[in-house]
Amino acid sequence: MGLTVVALGGNAISKAGEKGTWEESLANMEETALHLARIAASGEELVVTHGNGPQVGSLLIQQESAKLEVPPLPMSAVGAMTQGWIGYLVEQTLPAAMRTLRPSKARAAWPRSVLPIITRVRVDPRDGSFRRPTKPVGPYYSENEARLLKKQKGWVMVHDAARGGWRRVVPSPLPLEILEGEPLRRLLRAGVGQWAIPVVSGGGGVPVVVRARGRIEGVEAVIDKDRTAALLARTLRATTLAIVTDVPGAAIGFRTSRERMLGRVDARELREHLEHGEFGEGSMRPKIEAALEFVERGGHRAIITNAEFLTHVIGDGDSAGARGTIVTRTRAG
Ligand code: ADP
Ligand code: MG
Repeated sequence: MGLTVVALGGNAISKAGEKGTWEESLANMEETALHLARIAASGEELVVTHGNGPQVGSLLIQQESAKLEVPPLPMSAVGAMTQGWIGYLVEQTLPAAMRTLRPSKARAAWPRSVLPIITRVRVDPRDGSFRRPTKPVGPYYSENEARLLKKQKGWVMVHDAARGGWRRVVPSPLPLEILEGEPLRRLLRAGVGQWAIPVVSGGGGVPVVVRARGRIEGVEAVIDKDRTAALLARTLRATTLAIVTDVPGAAIGFRTSRERMLGRVDARELREHLEHGEFGEGSMRPKIEAALEFVERGGHRAIITNAEFLTHVIGDGDSAGARGTIVTRTRAG
């Protein structure tokens, strides 16, 4: 038994083809919560983090369409709003799922609550990504609107040929420090995990920079949630980093005739596949990088799989049926 940081992908909250209603997200999270509850029931201590791409997108559209009546908030505040939104969603689903199960003997107590924490993550103002923003966010604009936004707000706009519109791109700097990480580590050491499951650094955390005299300022950027998940797992000295997504594992030859899913794999072999460009830019690649970073810096193992298969690897599920990509530093693991 140990501490597992679970990073939930967008699919846990909204599925492709859905509108993104509250009812849809409740139904999706209820399903994910059942799997998480089974893992917690087996005695594993959990800390949850999550993506926020679609949620940031829809809030930015709301801000944009209502801007004549209500002043739009900065992106950092919008990021914090999504942490509150999804934290609440987990509060409304996970404790109910826990109540449907019986705790194992391994548990001294049974976490009955969820503890969402609005989390800031420090980034370097000189991070190269500030000079080359690449991450598209928010609504699509016409060419005229895009020109105006460039001029008035200094936004970097890119043309999306497929959708025939313009979009803002923002920097995606590396996460350096989770500002609420140390207090959380102390809380966990004091045993809070027996009572509550923390939900931390959603959407990769609210990006902030530290200015002169320690003044902390939110910045217009997004941090990759998989990268922050690896940093969170290290900060909390977790034994396992579990990246939950919508595929059963990472594959080589993905979507080709030589496709093969990776099962147990050591860091050296995985790094070779990474260097061969086997993993999708901005989708599977950041997960592989997060997994490698975690195990290469002392983490016990990283798992990339879907929520159901995760219960087989670390929950009460059938371990013979355990599938998914399990990364350890060496073969012996
Ligand atoms: P999440 O919201 O969980 O971060 P992403 O869409 O960012 O989800 O990443 C998961 C997706 O990565 C999968 O749905 C799959 O289409 C894609 N992907 C790209 N390369 C690979 C690969 N080599 N093996 C498996 N999935 C891959
Ligand atoms: Mg992703």
